[in-house]
Amino acid sequence: MVARQIPFYDYPASFAADGAELVRIFSEVAGRGAFILQAEVKEFEAQLQALIGVKHAIGVGNCTDGLILALRASGVSQGDEVIFCTHTFVATASAIHHVGAIPVPVDCGADHLMDVTKIEGAITPRTKAIVPTQLNGRVCEMDSILTLAARHGLTIVEDAAQALGATYRGKAAGTFGALGAFSFYPAKNLGALGDAGAVVTNDDALAERVRLLRDHGRHSSGEVVMWGLNSRLDNIQAAFLSHRLRRYREFVAYRRQLAALYCSELSSVAEVVLPPAPDAESTRFDVFQNFEIEAAQRDRLREHLRSKGIGTLIQWGGKAVHQFEALGFRQRLPFTEELFTKLLMLPMNTAVSVEDCRYVCNAIKEFYRGVA
Ligand SMILES: *Cc1c(COP(=O)(O)O)cnc(C)c1O
Repeated sequence: MVARQIPFYDYPASFAADGAELVRIFSEVAGRGAFILQAEVKEFEAQLQALIGVKHAIGVGNCTDGLILALRASGVSQGDEVIFCTHTFVATASAIHHVGAIPVPVDCGADHLMDVTKIEGAITPRTKAIVPTQLNGRVCEMDSILTLAARHGLTIVEDAAQALGATYRGKAAGTFGALGAFSFYPAKNLGALGDAGAVVTNDDALAERVRLLRDHGRHSSGEVVMWGLNSRLDNIQAAFLSHRLRRYREFVAYRRQLAALYCSELSSVAEVVLPPAPDAESTRFDVFQNFEIEAAQRDRLREHLRSKGIGTLIQWGGKAVHQFEALGFRQRLPFTEELFTKLLMLPMNTAVSVEDCRYVCNAIKEFYRGVA
């Protein structure tokens, strides 16, 4: 008999938590026929601006599109090189590829985020931009990245898909560079009931370009002023997101509570490397999109947890982006590749109870006592 079932992410439970409210919102908004770029998109954009302290938020179809629009708006194009860290979703690199630029991989560091000491070595005369990923709900060492970018005249576009509300030295993820992109994929910290995303910027001209690019290059007058795409944030999704955003701080506080519990319960386990605890650094506020550990005998641990009813996930299917051979990367990044043999994500979301979290920790301790 399995004592508990703790799925890595429980999609039906995430709907059940506020489903009745969302159904009411759906009926109200659909009943008005408010489907495309209506008041709900504007209201959600205003809420996002207030949450992260940025001048412009522009709702788009998803974060991948958001990155493409952000790169295009900032002038990255054919033949430019763009540096990114390969411990990220393939979307970071594919966005670079789809504007005609060349994604140039660098390693992550011990904290799983872009290794800032590797950036300089990857810069060439063709380098145009850096796309740091604010991975797992934590912001990269942005001071160093900003300094390097300024010295070499490079644009920064942040992949902030996993970091809504995370800060570094009091500044929010997405607001360090020229533009930043967020994802509201259902399992993200702020999830829609389908695909959704946003681009943020403090620059009026860039904001205007992204607004045009997301809607066929059409000016409000109806005049088409540039080649654009269709990547509008769905109005009904915006209404769902507005509703959920009102409780966002509470959801993040709960994730941080779970992270603190994982860290205190597992600190005595020599075989695992933990992410920094929520209060570990005064310069950062992490929002724990994921709780990613490094585990000795990772695959056997994962099997043991599965036998205890605990779902885990190996991020990106177990490969860094440069390891997907079909994409044509030739670089070897030994640090990242070695790290990827140990990475494992534990259940981290608002459907996980404190008791669930303790149960996971006990199962991990039991596994390593057994193999010792
Ligand atoms: C989820 C995610 C994306 C893609 O977001 P979509 O909204 O699904 O396009 C991009 N980058 C990272 C790091 C992500 O986690």
